[in-house]
Amino acid sequence: MVSYKELGLVNTVEMFKKAVAGGYAIPAFNFNNMEQMQAIIQACAETKSPVILQVSSGARKYANQTILRYMAEGAVQYAKELGWEHPQICLHLDHGDTFELCKSCVDMGFSSVMIDASSLPFEENIKLTKQVVEYAHKYDVTVEAELGVLAGVEDEVSAEESHYTKPEEVIEFATRSGCDSLAISIGTSHGAYKFKPEQCKVDPATGRLVPPPLAFDVLHEIEKKLPGFPIVLHGSSSVPQDEVDTINKYGGALKAAVGIPEEQLREAAKSAVCKINIDSDSRLAMTAAIRKVFAEKPAEFDPRKYLGPARDSMKKLYMHKIINVLGSAGKAE
Ligand SMILES: [Zn+2]
Repeated sequence: MVSYKELGLVNTVEMFKKAVAGGYAIPAFNFNNMEQMQAIIQACAETKSPVILQVSSGARKYANQTILRYMAEGAVQYAKELGWEHPQICLHLDHGDTFELCKSCVDMGFSSVMIDASSLPFEENIKLTKQVVEYAHKYDVTVEAELGVLAGVEDEVSAEESHYTKPEEVIEFATRSGCDSLAISIGTSHGAYKFKPEQCKVDPATGRLVPPPLAFDVLHEIEKKLPGFPIVLHGSSSVPQDEVDTINKYGGALKAAVGIPEEQLREAAKSAVCKINIDSDSRLAMTAAIRKVFAEKPAEFDPRKYLGPARDSMKKLYMHKIINVLGSAGKAE
């Protein structure tokens, strides 16, 4: 048993309290490898933004849960080395699906876990969430739960159709499960193909697809039911079209990839939404940078020569999100 406190990590309690009161959101960035982790920490140290490092089931399979945990410990030391005196870094399990998995993360030093039982019936979702909460809270580890179904594909989490969270269920769910934050479904979705072209309009000026707006009415209803309660948005990448264009220009084939417009996320961040999950955008930035090097310098075979630019590009993306979308810069001085 290792407590996250010994590793210099923090849970989400203070982060979320300040974010809800201050009208901004904490970035939750997924990480799978060293370059991504370095880019996240460089961006957060430079902007003094609190951050949630997320580990998905795909990341655990790819990089190994233990390695990622040690990388998070390294991230805290790296942040200090970069001059961030009091780094606020949370290590979070993304989409935990069993009690045993959540427990193993609590036991090895994660400071926050998500139990996603949203595919189960309401009563079973409450029951499993409560079981995780009871264990995690013994060690001051915070728990995110989910109500409603997001469409899209994220590692092993996938659903054909979305079902908006029902505002009339949130009070009972939050009270009985004891969760610390709640992921809701209001139209965001996982992956880089968030909407089918037929769901979108076409912007006549640019020819780009414009997705349907998020269900802010549902969000506001939920806020009214649970004043000040931390709300989480998954699947909130914006799929920057310049990255998609770069990928396609250098041999990629991403067709009709479309995300959540940043102005809508900006609006959500001002509400009770205090954690916004971004994964696909970083994948796109990394892929675009690597494809560009491969196309322009075909003789290059030193991985540092393409992973380096990929890291720089991800850092730029993370800083943009922190400063221009989530508003979390300067909140962890
Ligand atoms: Zn998710």
